[in-house]
Parts: sequence; C-alpha cells; structure tokens
Amino acid sequence: MKILVINAGSSSLKYQLIDMETEAVLAKGLCERIGIDGHLKHTPLVEGKEVFNEDVAMPTHSEAIAAVIDKLTSPQYGVVNSMKEIDAVGHRVVHGGEKFASSVLITDDVMKAIEECIPFAPLHNPANITGIKACQAVMGKVPMVAVFDTAFHQTMPGKAYMYALPYQYYLSNGVRRYGFHGTSHRYVSSRCAELMGKPIEELKIVSCHMGNGSSLAAIDGGKCVDTSMGFTPLVGLPMGTRCGDLDAGVIQYLMNKYGYSIDEMLNILNKKSGVLGVSGVSSDFRDLDKAAAEGNERAQLALDMFHYWVAKVAGSYVAAMNGVDAIVYTAGVGENSSATRAAISKYFGYLGVKIDEEANKKRGEDIEISTPDSKVKVFVIPTNEELVIARDTRDIIA
Ligand code: AMP
Repeated sequence: MKILVINAGSSSLKYQLIDMETEAVLAKGLCERIGIDGHLKHTPLVEGKEVFNEDVAMPTHSEAIAAVIDKLTSPQYGVVNSMKEIDAVGHRVVHGGEKFASSVLITDDVMKAIEECIPFAPLHNPANITGIKACQAVMGKVPMVAVFDTAFHQTMPGKAYMYALPYQYYLSNGVRRYGFHGTSHRYVSSRCAELMGKPIEELKIVSCHMGNGSSLAAIDGGKCVDTSMGFTPLVGLPMGTRCGDLDAGVIQYLMNKYGYSIDEMLNILNKKSGVLGVSGVSSDFRDLDKAAAEGNERAQLALDMFHYWVAKVAGSYVAAMNGVDAIVYTAGVGENSSATRAAISKYFGYLGVKIDEEANKKRGEDIEISTPDSKVKVFVIPTNEELVIARDTRDIIA
C-alpha cells in the first residue's frame, strides 16, 4: 500500500509518498509560491530517478497537485507507474476543534466540520481545505483522511483546558486551550515507550517539541493531560518569533501607547517577538548560539529565557502528573542543539536526571542521552509527523 501525505499551506504544499509495507519514503517534495508563479522541488528516494527542481506554473493548489502527481508517475523522476498505485491520501489539518479527537475519513460532513473550525485557525484551516479540495479534483475517488494537530490534546481534562473566563465564552464560542503539535507529541511519546520497552499506559512522559514554534505536552499513560499552546499557537514558551505567555494588560498598554491596531499588535506578538524580539539577532537558534558565543548578551538572555521556560513548564507537568519517567526532546532545536538540551537538562537535577555528555553530542537518530543511573530517562527522538499521518490513513481506510 502506498500513501501520499499532504501538508498544504496558503502558498506552499509539502508531500511525501510512503510505502506502508516498509514505511520507506519513496519521494518527497515541496511546491512553493502557489498563486504567485510556482516552483516544485521533487526528490525521489529510489535509485536511478532524478531530482526535479524547476519553476512550474501554479495559479492554484490544483495545478500544484497535478504537478506532484505528474512527477510521481514520470519515467524520469517518478516512483510509481500511475496514480492508481496511490491507495490513499493523508492530509494534515491544523484545527479540529472539539469535533475531532482522532483522525477521520474525509466526507462532505467532515469537510463542513473542518470549515466550521476556520475561526479557530483562520490562516491554516482554509489552506488545508484548499489542499484537500485540489486533491479531490485531481485524484477523484481516492480515499482521503484528515489528521489534526489538535486531536491528540482532546484527552486533556477540563481543569487543564479551561480558561478562567466567564463560562459562556467556552460554551458559546469554544474559547479554551486546544494545543498544537499533537501529531508530533503523539509520535515521540509512543516511540519513547518503544525505546523503553514498556507499555505507554505505564509511563509518564514530558514531550518537548522545540522548533521554530515550540510546545510541551504532559502525557500520562499515553494520553495528553496538558500542553503549553492554547486557543492559538501564540502562547506557552517564548518561540522563534512568538511571544509565548504574556499578561494581556501589556497588549492594552502598548496599543494605547503606540496607537497600534489589533492586527498590528498581533503581528508584533506573532512575528517580531520571541527569541528574535529579545535578542534583536535572529529567530534561528544557530544564529543565537553563535552570537552568544561571541559575547552578545541579549542573544544569551533570549537563550536563557527559552531554557528557563522549558524547564519551568516541564516542572509544572511533573507536578501535574505526580512524577515523570521520561523527558523527550524533538523538532529542529530539540533534535539538533546539544547545547540547548544540556542547558535545559541542568534544571532537572532535582529529578535525578543525569546527562551522558558523549551521547548528547550525537544527532539524527533516536538516542537515549541520560546515563544508566539517571532516575528519569532523557531521549532525543526525531519527530515524524508524516509517518503518523500515513499510519492513521492506512488504519482508517482498512
Ligand atoms: P522546526 O520548526 O522543527 O523545523 O525547527 C526549525 C528551527 O530549528 C530553526 O529555526 C533553528 O532555530 C533550529 N535548528 C536547526 N538546526 C539547528 C542546530 N544545529 N542548532 C540549533 N538550532 C537548530
């Protein structure tokens, strides 16, 4: 069985074709500048096929999908003989609200429900819907499955997901914590259980997804019981460019002081804040590491804040779960920056965490970076959201 995984953005579309017999990625690629002009980079991962990296006209997502199918089935660049070999498509969908606690087969009713969640994710869900419709237009009756970023967090109890606002805003408007990165937290926590050789039902795990956007999740017995992102992905930890937790009074103060509109204010909080805002250097942790090593104090402060917040939120999750068996680092920063992992892990001395410095230098694989006598295991697990989407799609169409 071969499954096409699609992650559609407003002007981009990422894809992977996965062979479910071996779980090998046969080809992957990225369409960019959809609606502007269009560019496709297609990379086959089987021998004898060539990379395609050229401009292709993409006035809409339909032309982008058609170009992807064309390359996947081409004798020169392709990895299948015809579209008939693609058994199903799995779509990443950002927001499923309270309607979806797991992945679903896409039907007309499901499409309506995803559309109803647009107010919760006004930038992402419309792009996801466009991607699904474009695939349906080009691929006809091939079954399609939606996998939601929010679904894994639907197991949170009310005490974790409610905001202390008048209850009517939850009841009438769905204002609550939803959380994001759920597919990633789900993948790394289940992989962590496999690496520990224990049923996930017996484990308490703190999952630290640290990339350009970052979130933590407390996973007790395989179920998410708390997570740091909220109604939107703006809150929780300070991120590349997002502010993380913030006193709402600051928003009123700055809007009054500078006459910002709400859109201008949100642009500052989403795009100009986080480690970029504090350092004035970059949102990229590689640049911050370099600047801090050269003595840039604001870059060091931004990094210190990030480490402190991860440790502080992780500590609150240990309290929420009444213990912890494993801590997992994943995503761009978590998988690649041994300095970040070391700095955060130093805060976990009270838990009896001990880091093996040599193991912590490794990259690109699942690694246990704690010492054998560490009371809590610490892992680096490269995340694989595409594989989760493909597995869910396989299970649902079966
Ligand atoms: P993601 O959002 O998961 O793709 O992560 C992207 C982020 O990972 C980048 O913005 C960088 O900040 C970070 N990153 C990638 N490689 C490294 C590295 N070698 N050291 C530190 N940070 C890295």
